[in-house]
Amino acid sequence: MSYAVKEIHYTLQGEGARTGRAAVFCRFTGCNLWSGREQDRATAQCPFCDTDFIGTDGHGGGTFDTAEKLAKTIAAYWTGNDVGGDVENDAGTATAKPYVVFTGGEPLLQLDEILIKALQVLDFEVAIETNGTLPAPPGVDWICVSPKAGTAQVQTTGHELKVIFPQEGFDPLTLSGQAFANRFIQPMDMLGDDAASQVNLDACIAFCRDNPAWRLSLQTHKLLGIP
Ligand code: SF4
Repeated sequence: MSYAVKEIHYTLQGEGARTGRAAVFCRFTGCNLWSGREQDRATAQCPFCDTDFIGTDGHGGGTFDTAEKLAKTIAAYWTGNDVGGDVENDAGTATAKPYVVFTGGEPLLQLDEILIKALQVLDFEVAIETNGTLPAPPGVDWICVSPKAGTAQVQTTGHELKVIFPQEGFDPLTLSGQAFANRFIQPMDMLGDDAASQVNLDACIAFCRDNPAWRLSLQTHKLLGIP
C-alpha cells in the first residue's frame, strides 16, 4: 500500500490531553466527511473543518510507496533528545519518547498496522486524531476521537474524546457512557469571525462548569502562533 501525505512537521501538540508535548505531525491526504473543496462545504457531513488536507503539496508531503519509507521520513523530523529520561504518568506526558501524531483529513483511511509497527520499531509512540467513523487498527498507542454530528461513530474506545462545540443537534453528554479517560470540549473555530468564536468559547466554558467530567481544550498553537 502507498500513503498519500499532505505534510509533515515537527511541532508541539496544541490541543487536548497532550498539549505542549513535542510531536511529529503527519497529515494524511483526504477525509471521508468532506472533499476539502469549499464548494462542497455546505453539503459536507463535516462542514466546519479548518484544515487543508487536499493533495500532497505541503511541507514534507508526498506519496510514499512503503511504510518503511514513510516511517524513516517521519523519524528524520524528530530532533528531540532523551535528556531527562522517561517518567510515565497517566497522560504519558513526562516522557522523551519520540512521538508521532497521525492526523488529516481522516488518518484511518490510510494508517495501517504495518505503518504503526514500522514506527514502533523506530521507538515511536503512535497517536491518531480521528473523526471516529472508521475503526482504528491494532497497536495505536494513543487514540483521540473527535466525533462529528450526524455521523456514525464506530471507534468508541480510546484515550481521549475531543468534541468540537457546539455542533447543531449534538449533545456531548450522549457520549458519557464511552470509556475515554479524557473528555474535552473545544470551541469551534469560526474561521476568522472573532465574535462568533467568542460565543463558542463562552458556551464551552459554561458546559465544563456544568459538567466537570469534561475539560476545556484550546487550540494553543493557534492562540500562541506555534508553527
Ligand atoms: S472530519 Fe476532521 S478532517 Fe474531516 S472534514 Fe471534519 S474536521 Fe476536517
